[in-house]
Amino acid sequence: MEQKKIGWIGLGNMGIPMVTQLINAGHKVAVYNRSKDKEASLKNLGASISASPKDLINSSELIFLMVSDDKAINQLFRAQDGLLADDSSGKTIINMSTVSPGISKEMAELCAAKGNFYLDAPVSGSVKQAETGTLVIMVGGDEQAFEAVKPVLAKLGKLIMHIGDNGSGNNAKLAINSLLALYAQGLAETIVFANQNGVKTADLLELINNAAIGNLFTKIKGDAILQDNFKAAFALKHIVKDLGLAKAEGLSSPLAHVAFETFQNAEPSLGEEDIIAIVKALR
Ligand code: NAP
Repeated sequence: MEQKKIGWIGLGNMGIPMVTQLINAGHKVAVYNRSKDKEASLKNLGASISASPKDLINSSELIFLMVSDDKAINQLFRAQDGLLADDSSGKTIINMSTVSPGISKEMAELCAAKGNFYLDAPVSGSVKQAETGTLVIMVGGDEQAFEAVKPVLAKLGKLIMHIGDNGSGNNAKLAINSLLALYAQGLAETIVFANQNGVKTADLLELINNAAIGNLFTKIKGDAILQDNFKAAFALKHIVKDLGLAKAEGLSSPLAHVAFETFQNAEPSLGEEDIIAIVKALR
């Protein structure tokens, strides 16, 4: 498995540190990104550049995708120069993007028709975890195909779990991100409430982070609020996408409903900023 040729599509906030991990672990990697400027930094690390997804799959055995959404996946698979353009077989395509279970099932069937495997393998964790290979990875799809790629996934994550059939990784991820939305809104609302009553943000965060309700999320996002740093690690627009996907899968709880509305309302002005920029909308 260590010798497999790897192709990587998607060089966003997550894609760049993740593919860097694979290169640093000694893998030969070809990369493709829609916007060409982002490929340069990977070239400097030794990656080769593919002109299209079609070229990338032809020169790779394992193909990773880490892109925004269902629309991107549809384009990357179905375009004239897409992953499905040529005959190919014996490849494993690993989609680590947060997308719908439906599109994973659809792409898995199209890949299987060509003799390829498709695994949905979304991740929990953000840029820091991507940089240190400590993501949590949840996988749906053929179990043997999963076992075969697990050693490579282990370079990206600290926990790699097979959940079930295609789409089950996506379902697990949507459940986790519904909690992420509640954490983000909850932390932001708590800070706004405390501030309104004269409690300083720094003091409140020190209390929270030393109390049982403190966690890595309150630490990292609390620091971001304190530093007024809302540069996207996980863009707010992505949680709107994920809550929409979760709703389509049947999430209809009261808290999820309010969070979806809150993040949707904030998206036009704060969509490109980090999820915790929701504090600015609530102030
Ligand atoms: P990002 O920084 O917004 O990057 C998105 C990537 O998708 C870019 O490479 C972009 O290409 C590509 N893309 C978007 N639309 C495309 C299209 N129509 N055709 C081809 N490529 C397209 O996103 P990210 O933060 O890396 O997240 C990637 C995925 O992981 C998302 O599904 C997100 O929900 C999920 N995720 C993110 C985090 C996080 O903390 N950031 C954590 C867990 C999961 P361009 O460069 O050309 O725009």
